Formats: sequence, structure tokens, C-alpha cells
Amino acid sequence: MTPLRVGFDMDGVLADFASAYRQIETRLFGPQSQTRAGDPEDETPERSPSNNDPPAAATLDSSRAPSPHDLRRRRDLIWQVIHSTPDFWTTLAPVDAEAVRRIRALSLRHRWDVVFITQRPATDGESVQRQTQRWLVEQGFDLPSVLVITGSRGAAAAALRLDYHIDDSPKNCVDVKSESPAKPILIAEPGDETTAASAKKLGIGIARTVGDCLDLLERASVSRAQPTLLTRVARLVGLG
Ligand SMILES: [Mg+2]
Repeated sequence: MTPLRVGFDMDGVLADFASAYRQIETRLFGPQSQTRAGDPEDETPERSPSNNDPPAAATLDSSRAPSPHDLRRRRDLIWQVIHSTPDFWTTLAPVDAEAVRRIRALSLRHRWDVVFITQRPATDGESVQRQTQRWLVEQGFDLPSVLVITGSRGAAAAALRLDYHIDDSPKNCVDVKSESPAKPILIAEPGDETTAASAKKLGIGIARTVGDCLDLLERASVSRAQPTLLTRVARLVGLG
């Protein structure tokens, strides 16, 4: 029996980037400022804010609703803080304190090959790869393979011959589904029924938490040698 090859996205699946982003936003613009929390996959600014830009206070007036320009500027300033924080990617809290340790235990028990895949941009300090590896080691995964990519998740999933890829971005899941034989599993928060329904329609698996997702993967791993059971598990995940 061939062991599973599983890819895990980092931010929004294992690392709580959204909270760190919101904390910086609150520090810069006050507690009322909360906009949609970002994800490095879709929030990386196309340009770095230049030193010639006016200071934040000049463009961000908290007494009125922020304009699209304000929001863009706000996002750029938050990213400026992220880029200049030494080893920023080592400072994030886990989404689920047990998840990384559990992935390690499952990979040992079922001989999974695990790859952590990320599109995180560089910050001051060590390379994104080393920061991410340090974080995973601290969370309990002793020998993490980290792949930092800028291009398509699907191409990476195909090249790595993944069986499953776990991601919180519907876009990445669609990409994996269309570009590779890997089965994407979307982590869709409870309550986000629109996303869950459209993902299901596209043949993307759904899990509500990373813990649920690991349960599904373990069942898939155990039942791999038993086609009937595997079909049942596939149906449960919405991949049947
Ligand atoms: Mg993500």
C-alpha cells in the first residue's frame, strides 16, 4: 500500500495569521479600525509603500468611513510592519494548539509524506522557509519539509504528486483540483455555507476545522487498502 502524500497550507490552516494581522491593525489605527483580516495568499501588496507616501494620520481619519484608497493604504502600512518585523512568521499563534503535533503523530503512524506549502512573503530576519520550519518544530513537528512558492498551488501539488492538499483558500483548492490529481480539502468555517456549497459543487472536500480534516485523512489512510470503505470516506468528505 502506498502511503499518503499530504500537503498543508500554513496560514488559516495551521497558523493564525488573521489574528496577528488584526493586532497590528489595532495597534496602528485603533480598536474601531477592523477590516477583513488578510491572508498572505490574497493580501500581499503588489507594491511596497514608499517613503514618500504621506504619514498614516494624514490619510486615515477615523471619524469617517474609510475610502477604498484608505483601505489600500491601511493594508500597505500593515504589510510594511509585517515585512520589517524580524522573523515575523515565527511569532504566530497556532489555529489549533494540537494540530501540528497530531500531523506529526499521524505521519509516523501511517507513514505519510507531509509537505507544508506557503506563499508567505519575505520579512526581516531569516528566510521564509527557515522561519516556517522553526515555527513547525516549535509546534511539535520535528523534521518539516517546507515549500515556499510564488506560483500555482496546483502545479506544486502535481509536481509533488500529492494525494490530498488542505487549504483555507477556495481559490487554491480550485487550482489544485484543476491542475493536479490531488484531492483538495477546504477548511471552511462553520456558518460559511455559501463557500461550502460551491466548493462541494466543484468536487472540493470540506472540513470545518483542521482537527476534523485530520480525522478524515486518518480514515482515508486506514481505508486505503479497502476500496469500499474508501468510497464511503470519499463520500463523507464530499469527494465521492
Ligand atoms: Mg491560507
